[in-house]
Amino acid sequence: MYSPKIGDHVSTLDTPSMIVDLDLMESNISKLMNQLLPTGVNIRPHLKTTKSAILARRLNGAGAKGGCVAKLSEAEVLCAKGFDDLLITCEIIGPVKVARLVELFRRFRRLRIVVDSVVGASAINEALEKSGINEPIQVLIDLDVGLRRTGIQPGEPVLQLATHIAKLKHMKLIGIQGYEGHLQHLHNREERKKSCLESMAILTGTAGILRKEGFNMDVVTTAGTGTAEFAVTVPGVTEVQPGSFIFMDTDYRNAVGTFYSNSLTILSTVLSKQGPKCVTIDVGLKSLSTDSGLAEAKDPRFTYGVLGDEHGSLAWVEGEDLEIGDRVEMIPSHIDPTINLHDFYYAHRQGIIEEIWPVDARGKVQ
Ligand code: PLP
Ligand code: MN
Repeated sequence: MYSPKIGDHVSTLDTPSMIVDLDLMESNISKLMNQLLPTGVNIRPHLKTTKSAILARRLNGAGAKGGCVAKLSEAEVLCAKGFDDLLITCEIIGPVKVARLVELFRRFRRLRIVVDSVVGASAINEALEKSGINEPIQVLIDLDVGLRRTGIQPGEPVLQLATHIAKLKHMKLIGIQGYEGHLQHLHNREERKKSCLESMAILTGTAGILRKEGFNMDVVTTAGTGTAEFAVTVPGVTEVQPGSFIFMDTDYRNAVGTFYSNSLTILSTVLSKQGPKCVTIDVGLKSLSTDSGLAEAKDPRFTYGVLGDEHGSLAWVEGEDLEIGDRVEMIPSHIDPTINLHDFYYAHRQGIIEEIWPVDARGKVQ
């Protein structure tokens, strides 16, 4: 039976396989920690990228505190794997999801959630009231700082929401989240910095107003890979949520540069020769996401094209030909949806597999 083992060479893996260069990944983690930890701001990495309890622990071992997940179902999986210091960064809406939250909170009291509406907050409060759980759940207000995705508006709306939450017996307001996702991939560094500082002014300004009104604002959380370095310089920001830095992707590299390295690739095999300088490989839409453009071959000589669910093309102009059976590494264009297509990471150092990690929360989109 096919069963890759520690100590095997990556060349023995079947393809497509998701492989991680440990030296590069570890260097990405150290770079982030060295840059951000001295500021005293907490790092709560977004685990929507890795979906892995092992990597959540590794990041915490390196200096991070807890983690974020996007979805409740990701939290369910990571809690079951023993990692429960989690902030769920998406709103929990609807009776089914609220019931699931209550069941999870019954067992894992460290969970933190965000709310951006009176309706949403009340529904969770009522469900907790019926549950018989006495301890209140830790809540952050989700504030719109310009992304226009979720989040209550600053000013009067956020004050009204805070006033409402403060009256709810089963909620303990601990702070505010304002994620500036629309800025992460701005190519111009100065523009990214300026826009980030504008969003941070909205976030910390709102936290200040709420604090003055007597609301607890211990946690002020924000930022991703593209903006964390700027957010940590802003007084009042207590926590940042970068995720993609651990592996990176071509979209991020093209935007923010090569401070972090592309440490994850999809290993593929040449299946067929289709022309003088063109071959077909065994990776397509089901192994590489395409929402942020097409993946790139690690060897820049080759240009990738999608040939459907299971196939892709590689074309080149000069140099040695690829032959049937050759192996090629592809760098994903967007890391999060690509990882969600794979069951395992094969982590290697100079080609020798050192660790195999399951993508624990793969497919957990609820
Ligand atoms: N915080 C929130 C709320 C997010 O949605 C994301 C990513 O989408 C992040 C942080 C992490 O961002 P990145 O992966 O760009 O570092
Ligand atoms: Mn992403």
